[in-house]
Amino acid sequence: MRSGCQVVLFLVCANLLLAQGQTSKTDWEAKFRAIPSADRQREYMERLAARPHHVGSPYDKSNAEWLESTFKSWGFDTKIETFDVLFPTPKERLVEMVEPSKFVAKLQEPTVPGDPTSGQHSEQLPTYNAYSIDGDVTGPLVYVNYGIPEDYEQLDRLGISVKGAIVIARYGGSWRGIKPKLAGEKGAVGCIIYSDPRDDGFFHGDVFPTGPWRPKDGVQRGSVMDMPLYPGDPLTPGVGATTSAKRLDIKDATTITKIPVLPISYADAQPLLAALKGPVAPFSWRGALPITYKIGPGPAKVHLKVKSNWDIKTIYDVIVTIPGSEYPDEWVIRGNHQDAWVNGADDPISGLVAEMEELRALSELLKQGWKPKRTIVYCAWDGEEEGLLGSTEWAEEHADALKQKAVAYINSDSNGRGYLGMSGSHSLEEFINGVARAIEDPEKKISVWKRNQLRRILNARSDEERNELRSRPDLRIGALGSGSDYTVFIDHLGVASLDLGYGGEDGGGIYHSIYDDIYWYTHFADTDFSYGRALSQTAGTAVIRLADADLLPYDFTEFSSTVHRYLDEIKRLLKGMQDQIKERNREITEGAFTATADPKENYVPPSPEDIPPYLNFAPLDNAVTTLTASAERYDKAAKRVMQSGTAFSATLIRSVNAKLIETERALTSSEGLPGRPWFKNLIYAPGLYTGYGVKTIPGVREAIEQKKWKDAESETQRVARALENEALLIDSAAAELEKALGTQ
Ligand SMILES: [Zn+2]
Repeated sequence: MRSGCQVVLFLVCANLLLAQGQTSKTDWEAKFRAIPSADRQREYMERLAARPHHVGSPYDKSNAEWLESTFKSWGFDTKIETFDVLFPTPKERLVEMVEPSKFVAKLQEPTVPGDPTSGQHSEQLPTYNAYSIDGDVTGPLVYVNYGIPEDYEQLDRLGISVKGAIVIARYGGSWRGIKPKLAGEKGAVGCIIYSDPRDDGFFHGDVFPTGPWRPKDGVQRGSVMDMPLYPGDPLTPGVGATTSAKRLDIKDATTITKIPVLPISYADAQPLLAALKGPVAPFSWRGALPITYKIGPGPAKVHLKVKSNWDIKTIYDVIVTIPGSEYPDEWVIRGNHQDAWVNGADDPISGLVAEMEELRALSELLKQGWKPKRTIVYCAWDGEEEGLLGSTEWAEEHADALKQKAVAYINSDSNGRGYLGMSGSHSLEEFINGVARAIEDPEKKISVWKRNQLRRILNARSDEERNELRSRPDLRIGALGSGSDYTVFIDHLGVASLDLGYGGEDGGGIYHSIYDDIYWYTHFADTDFSYGRALSQTAGTAVIRLADADLLPYDFTEFSSTVHRYLDEIKRLLKGMQDQIKERNREITEGAFTATADPKENYVPPSPEDIPPYLNFAPLDNAVTTLTASAERYDKAAKRVMQSGTAFSATLIRSVNAKLIETERALTSSEGLPGRPWFKNLIYAPGLYTGYGVKTIPGVREAIEQKKWKDAESETQRVARALENEALLIDSAAAELEKALGTQ
């Protein structure tokens, strides 16, 4: 059955490559995709997830050394690069209710019978949020739903302040670090985050070990470092955390939280929430616990204590280099992290084992005589969970080389059963669609691209969307915010990046708990590792194509049309705010809020606000028009080159590629984004108040959201200049190709 599929794959990719006049590469790709083995991925997982392997643990180091010796045994030039980073681990943790009754939270995840690794308590990190500041605070409790900006607006309407209070927020709605950040800004003295069963527990299905969902004592660990300011070691922003690096004092590290924070289970949260009085929570705030959700403040009064060992720990990045034969100074980089919060079978080992099988398959090709044209760098990052430590420190340390040489970075993290998730730089949208067309879905035996398209058609919300899905040659890819190791590459260095992974058919609630382990993964996720194999085939095919293409496969037409869409979104955002504020001011004048307020309930009507001014988007409109024209010109020239079938000189290819590599860097600014200079990409960034969630054209978009109108206009001009520069580079690459074609 399997060999039959390979014949189909071979034909699909033969056609694609024939169209590009590159028949000789067909064999290598087809050979490559036949090699990754699902059984081997299971074996690797059994080794890597056998014990807890967080930063600083003996098994983290042991895994890095095992990866190094395994890669060496496959014939690769492999080394471990170490960095020394600040990594707090808990010394004291306490959540207790002191009024109206006494209750002490357990803060402990119990062993599950039948799950062999859940009982490795002496090696497990306790449940906590890394980079919470130390603190010992007592205050009335307030329930703040997800603890995101909209929730605080709602609290304002109810006349509830969190000043001096301890807030309890549920996981979800934003990246977790936003919750203590916003609570602190609103005057809260402490923050508790819990997992509500509505979001990842019994509301969805059977809980572990009967089913995959979060059991009552399961806790989500996680970093609360203020990553939208800068990720990586809090003491060495912008430089590699080598032994000799200059370090900030801990008190000057701005990414450590301002108030103490601890995560708890829903078994621990229920008595606290049940002791709250005050208004009943709005409908959308209610979770699935068998209580009436109320907001407080109090009468529940809570004592929260967090104290950490603020140690410097060594992290181990495992780096494999495969030198390129023709363009050794152009690097294709591939990475997945190797550290976990506990055993981490799903996060990250399910992605790492796929990456390992790619590497083994590449070693087979090399033995058979394959010579990649570009240098390929494979990385297994340490310290991702704490704040993207391994990838950030490595890329900061090698920033100069990467700025010159990096062609693309391909990331994966966890992997599961279902559909191919594709996000990244839009200059690679056409490229990754091409890869997806060449990969067979293990369950349906159609291409993973086709399966993805059909699902999107079913889920589309309008005819317009369905029409586009049926007629546009490529599926749109999502933009990257933050949340995994691509962050430093795309956001700090301006390296075109992709994040890939399968999922969508299995749910679960073991994220960052002791139950994310081999038992859970092999019972409830990609149990036969067939999607692990598909991920190896997908990411590996992308690496091979990027490494062997003569002309780098960037496409700017989809990039420019995507930037156009972002600009339209921003215009709609401003218009929406103007309309909304205009209407609300009118309702205030009409007395609508006072007339409808229930006198038996507390209600604070909104105050009138200035209507947002019209902004001048003309510089951006003009820049996008110029960019679109340049993109089309380059597209035409590049297509002619591919169709011509002629061999162009290596000097020409090198010179054009150098310009293409520059185009991604042109999207960055050395000053970075307003208030966060580490983030240098002017098109993509994680939101200051969303965390993982992306904000595209962030300088302009966030200035509008924060009602900083002057900044919005100056940022508009700055982004416009960057796009004009981008257009010039693209034009000059096109001109070179046109000249070469003219002289053929
Ligand atoms: Zn991960």
